[in-house]
Amino acid sequence: MMLKLVTSIAPLRDRVAEARRAGLQVGLVPTMGALHAGHVRLIEQARLECGCVVVSIFVNPLQFDRKDDLARYPRPLQADVAVCAAAGVDIVFAPTVEGMYPGEAECTVDVGRVADHLCGRYRPGHFRGMATVVLKLLQIVQPDRAYFGEKDAQQLAVIRHMARDFNVPVRIEGVATVRDADGLALSSRNQRLAPEERVLARSLHSLLREAERLVAEGERDPKQVTAIASGILPDDDRLRLEYLDVVDPEHIQPVERIEGPVLVAGALWVGSTRLIDNLLCHPSGAPQVAALPGT
Ligand code: AMP
Repeated sequence: MMLKLVTSIAPLRDRVAEARRAGLQVGLVPTMGALHAGHVRLIEQARLECGCVVVSIFVNPLQFDRKDDLARYPRPLQADVAVCAAAGVDIVFAPTVEGMYPGEAECTVDVGRVADHLCGRYRPGHFRGMATVVLKLLQIVQPDRAYFGEKDAQQLAVIRHMARDFNVPVRIEGVATVRDADGLALSSRNQRLAPEERVLARSLHSLLREAERLVAEGERDPKQVTAIASGILPDDDRLRLEYLDVVDPEHIQPVERIEGPVLVAGALWVGSTRLIDNLLCHPSGAPQVAALPGT
């Protein structure tokens, strides 16, 4: 199939129906654009498993808790379409805000306690907005599988719970985080970093690696883990650690003691840019179970 760019729902549904008639499995990769190698990894995974790959590109106003962040979010649609074409995407769905939200919406997804901690604590309404747009995309495309990055582990957990709780007939697939050579997780927001900030930004990954080492070497107290790990943050006015927390990977709740695999997640402000990252950490001797079960 040649790549098709569609910007409204009816033609998108026609294209997907065509693929289904041809007997193809449909995979959806939801994104906000400004595509990088992390997104491409999701697309590659979808290509391995599905005959028709749909990438949605939509900067969802409902999930932005800060107007300046929404205004500054990059929207390089042409370049994104070129990335999708090179990666073998079949359909790019790039709807307008009016197309996705015609008139005042009455209903949103109430995400429950999985959104109480980590980013949910600091970004009011973010996960409600994100889950609402993902549910809309799942209803519009009706894919067999949908692909999300483990970099946004709380987002992935929210979506797994939503799909399960609302009986959405889709397999939610998590894909490992793609990083730069120094460990910084790729993110569309990285391009906002000034060169010196880019150097400082690596410290988020360093904190997480320190936490991983502590857990692997037997530290069982999450407070000790976060206190020691956050202690290695360079002393620089441009850095502000918003949170560094240890939670259970499925329900994103704080743990009292580290007995099995835990998610260590952090948010770091580097100047005016907010970065997030996480690592799944395994205590020594704990069973290496799949901590993020599929839907
Ligand atoms: P975004 O465009 O930032 O909303 O991200 C779209 C999807 O790509 C989400 O499922 C993200 O978790 C995923 N993603 C973003 N950055 C990365 C990365 N560095 N590695 C893997 N997946 C990523």
